[in-house]
Amino acid sequence: MVIGVEQIHEALVALLERPVAGSHSTVLGAGSDDLESGRRYLEALVDGGWMVPEWPSEHGGRDASPAEAVLIAEALGSYQTADLYPYGVGLNLVGPVLLERGTKSQQQRWLRPIADGSEIWCQMFSEPDAGSDLANAGMRAERDGDEWVLNGSKVWTSRGSYATWGMCVARTDTSSPKHLGLTMFAVDMASPGIEVRPLEQMNGDQHFTEVFATNVRVTDENRLGDLGDGWGITVETLAHERATIGGRAFGGDDSSEAGLPSWLEAWSGGGHLVNPVARQAAMRAYVLHRVNQLTTERAVQAAKGDSPGPEGSGAKLRSVAAFKARAYLGKNLAGAAGMLVDSPGHLGFMTAPSMSIRGGTDEVQRNIVGERVLDLPREPSVDRGIPYSDLRRSR
Ligand SMILES: Cc1cc2nc3c(=O)[nH]c(=O)nc-3n(C[C@H](O)[C@H](O)[C@H](O)COP(=O)(O)OP(=O)(O)OC[C@H]3O[C@@H](n4cnc5c(N)ncnc54)[C@H](O)[C@@H]3O)c2cc1C
Repeated sequence: MVIGVEQIHEALVALLERPVAGSHSTVLGAGSDDLESGRRYLEALVDGGWMVPEWPSEHGGRDASPAEAVLIAEALGSYQTADLYPYGVGLNLVGPVLLERGTKSQQQRWLRPIADGSEIWCQMFSEPDAGSDLANAGMRAERDGDEWVLNGSKVWTSRGSYATWGMCVARTDTSSPKHLGLTMFAVDMASPGIEVRPLEQMNGDQHFTEVFATNVRVTDENRLGDLGDGWGITVETLAHERATIGGRAFGGDDSSEAGLPSWLEAWSGGGHLVNPVARQAAMRAYVLHRVNQLTTERAVQAAKGDSPGPEGSGAKLRSVAAFKARAYLGKNLAGAAGMLVDSPGHLGFMTAPSMSIRGGTDEVQRNIVGERVLDLPREPSVDRGIPYSDLRRSR
């Protein structure tokens, strides 16, 4: 039976609080490592399947249709939320990939702990020699009976300092061209041989890490997908990531009486928009914000619950541009006071540059849009068809 808005609210009102004035979520966890509030929020929602409604009910969802899921997401927006950034890789990347590619026992093992927040995942893709060129990943996974032995290092691993599991792409075959010799694994972050070293970001975030693997044993049961299918899963995961980042308004609560975002109201209330040049710049930032919101809404409706495609790259570019325009203009409008580290918007300003890098850089997103949406000629490639072991690498 299709669920209606009233029934959704009847259920949610018993589980969640109404929003508290002035509360807000972080931008991708910036400035906060609050694991507890997110865990409590997910625990409250999991029995009814409200957080991941389209997932099967046996795994923490409620078998909802895409249309019902949209209604539920809208209804959730009218209650007090929690910062779900620590849980983002599990909920938005690993969960959908497990549903598409996981074995029954893997789904049984991992989906519910993702939905109820009891296990946190990180994404172990990037390496010192493999960022934009991710297919160049060199962490080795060698077979030993029913196990794989992992050696190598990952870098820029967000959430690495507190994750329970890592979704890790590793090279299982060096004799094939680079895209073909990769396989995906779920790595228990408490395994002997895993060493997580913190990397502090310029905005002060502490959960960012590099991860070293020395003879780390992973059972073959924890291989995600087929042998050699790591690149396909990587591409799929990145599409989910871009769509997730691109699908956000970042500060677009539009909660004031006039239906404007709080940042625009704050600039106006602070007397920063008296000057016509500042007003024009503020309107430019607002237009970017609205275009992002409306285009995202249109894309969600057009996708009808299907896996995200290369259009997600356009969405990510748009939402990053809107975020950066707001962060940089906010700093300028604050004048001399903006030099203080505790001035409003400082955290966003210090986070803004990373938005163009995480989840794939702006340049890489434009390449994807060019090649896969606009059908422009492919970038020249000097290593196509050459075995990974014969490629020239920096080390
Ligand atoms: C805050 C943050 C969080 C992150 N979290 C994670 C995470 O959890 N897990 C993870 O695996 N990774 C993570 N990353 C890593 C991120 O995905 C990479 O930094 C990104 O893909 C770029 O790779 P790179 O840093 O090696 O830069 P490079 O690939 O070396 O790029 C350097 C510059 O060259 C440009 N460039 C490269 N190739 C091309 C090309 N073909 N055409 C045009 N320009 C090009 C790039 O755009 C960039 O400006 C995170 C990064 C940041 C900043």
